[in-house]
Amino acid sequence: MSSPLFDTHAHLTDPKFTEDPAAIVDRAVAAGVGEVLALGCDLPSSEAAVELARAFPGRVYAAVGLHPHEADTAWPGLLPRLRELGADPAVVAIGEIGLDAYRGWSSEANQRRLLNAQLELALELGKPVCVHSRAAESDIVGAMTEFARAAAERGIPVPGVMHCFGGTLEQALPFVEAGFLVSIAGPVTYPKNDETRRLAAGLPARSLVIETDSPYLPPQGMRGQRNEPAFIVETARAVSAARGMSLEEVAQLTTENARRIFCAVRAEATGR
Ligand SMILES: [Zn+2]
Repeated sequence: MSSPLFDTHAHLTDPKFTEDPAAIVDRAVAAGVGEVLALGCDLPSSEAAVELARAFPGRVYAAVGLHPHEADTAWPGLLPRLRELGADPAVVAIGEIGLDAYRGWSSEANQRRLLNAQLELALELGKPVCVHSRAAESDIVGAMTEFARAAAERGIPVPGVMHCFGGTLEQALPFVEAGFLVSIAGPVTYPKNDETRRLAAGLPARSLVIETDSPYLPPQGMRGQRNEPAFIVETARAVSAARGMSLEEVAQLTTENARRIFCAVRAEATGR
């Protein structure tokens, strides 16, 4: 495989990663991963993601955001700092943001408010979003379509990524139509998960990206272990089997899509 892979969603600052981040990055590179997007889900992890992106330029990028699980906390006071972080040139997206009706760890109304505040922030900063939607695909599609329209007006080339999409191909299509990328994670490798393989097979080529969501959701061959960016190869392989494409073609395609959303933002921010 000569084309590098792009892991579009990793929680590299999660406490489960106890070793030197350079070791994680080295293993990723050795496995064929060229770039990783490190996501924040609260203020400390967002700050840490920015630090990491600064430490590994061109290899690790950062996204900063408050996860829907944070929606019942006193988050309005955190927005000024989040805005400051979001403006950093190492930050290529706002995320992880979204709605989670599955865990229900915070109220639906507060989740909505938090999501809307961060969509506004993304527009203000001219950056795309990384969206978590669990058991909320039909609830969130309106807000995302509206955001995509505003993002296009703002000159944001791709509005965002629907991360670790857990819905069906039919549920994904409205997001695709709005211009979103749809990200496939480790569950595509699970024997019972035919629905995700059908999704991976049916998405338009220009809409497909891949991720680990590490340290969570290890692919089948690594189940029971902590996931990490190097393990994305198994996910890429499952996507290539589902689509009847070579691994090389999947690598090329998904990395090109990821770079179209994240690296365009970066090029603009740094004036290159
Ligand atoms: Zn995540």
